[in-house]
Amino acid sequence: MVSEKTLLRLARRHGTPLFVIDHDEVRKNFRTFRKHLPRVQPYYAVKANPDPALVRTLYRAGASFDVASFAEFVIVHKNIEHLPPKKRQDYIWDRIIYANPIKAEETLSQLDPYKPLVTYDNPEEIRKMTRFAPHAGLVLRVRVPNTGSMVELSSKFGCAPGEAVDLIQQASRAGFTVEGLSFHVGSQATNFDNYLQALSICADIFQEARLRGIGGLSLLDIGGGFPAPYDDKVRPFEELAALLNREIDRLFGKEIEILAEPGRFMVATACTLVARIIGKARRDRKLCYYIDDGIYGTFSGILFDHCQYHLESFRDGPREICSVFGPTCDALDTVSTAENLPDLKLGEYLYSKNVGAYTTASATDFNGFPKARIVHVNQ
Ligand SMILES: *Cc1c(COP(=O)(O)O)cnc(C)c1O
Repeated sequence: MVSEKTLLRLARRHGTPLFVIDHDEVRKNFRTFRKHLPRVQPYYAVKANPDPALVRTLYRAGASFDVASFAEFVIVHKNIEHLPPKKRQDYIWDRIIYANPIKAEETLSQLDPYKPLVTYDNPEEIRKMTRFAPHAGLVLRVRVPNTGSMVELSSKFGCAPGEAVDLIQQASRAGFTVEGLSFHVGSQATNFDNYLQALSICADIFQEARLRGIGGLSLLDIGGGFPAPYDDKVRPFEELAALLNREIDRLFGKEIEILAEPGRFMVATACTLVARIIGKARRDRKLCYYIDDGIYGTFSGILFDHCQYHLESFRDGPREICSVFGPTCDALDTVSTAENLPDLKLGEYLYSKNVGAYTTASATDFNGFPKARIVHVNQ
């Protein structure tokens, strides 16, 4: 993490709220992912944090990308097209997967000229793609258990495993090549069993396809969900990677290309927010701090991502349990009701670590409070 000294210096120079992105940390997360999952090509899920400089840093490190809207597709395409292609990133499928199974007709028309790789999970989508994206390559999204993930998705996307081979057959009959299968175990998946069950479900589908004479499946996309180390209850990534490597090698031959869509894992630990205390009160004897960023800004992840962030002070002193509120007039704008903080003065700063994922991405300027300014270090 960027040192407290540097955070303070940056906050004084640029003002607050200030969102600091450390590109060394992003590169470190990327290297960790590749080192421990050598068979898996990471497609960074842009929705976690769509900052263009992050996209460039990750591309240079060797990442490909998962996008879920045409706007995200453009962010990636625009930021990488002038950079020299890396090994394994020679053409569009090596660089980008469009991993939102539901796509509007006009989105399909916009994507089609790029001959994109897209996911699907139902017959309506095949019909739409026949008309609006006949040049797409397909990956079938399969529903898998999301038990215990911080953000669950299994009720929204994915075909039932029993429908999978029929959907592959239907797409083939419509003239598409189905490259393989994808799944997503839900975000911040601390229950590693979900991955193991998902791999076994996909291996069964590969097997059933072979038995029914459908060849050509050559890709398995193991999705996102890789947990960020928000606290020491999260088991280490190395442990998950070891399980995945063992199961992937056991269930899928070397000819199957494996990719993943990590979002949070790549960026969560790379960003720190610095906010300033703009108000202070005692209510029912509890110390309340008001800061210049909140639920409608960088801390939007508390709502949308079900993630709790902690605030830390730059100096120490006798501590007590405090509430921390954002700057807007809405009571929903409560960052925390239980932070252990010293007695600080107006104008002093607080910081929050590990805020890189699903924070700025969903921030608004509700009530007229501007979003945090973004600065890059070690870019
Ligand atoms: C959001 C999303 C991801 C990224 O998830 P993380 O938990 O941030 O790794 C990957 N794939 C799909 C399809 C997603 O919707």
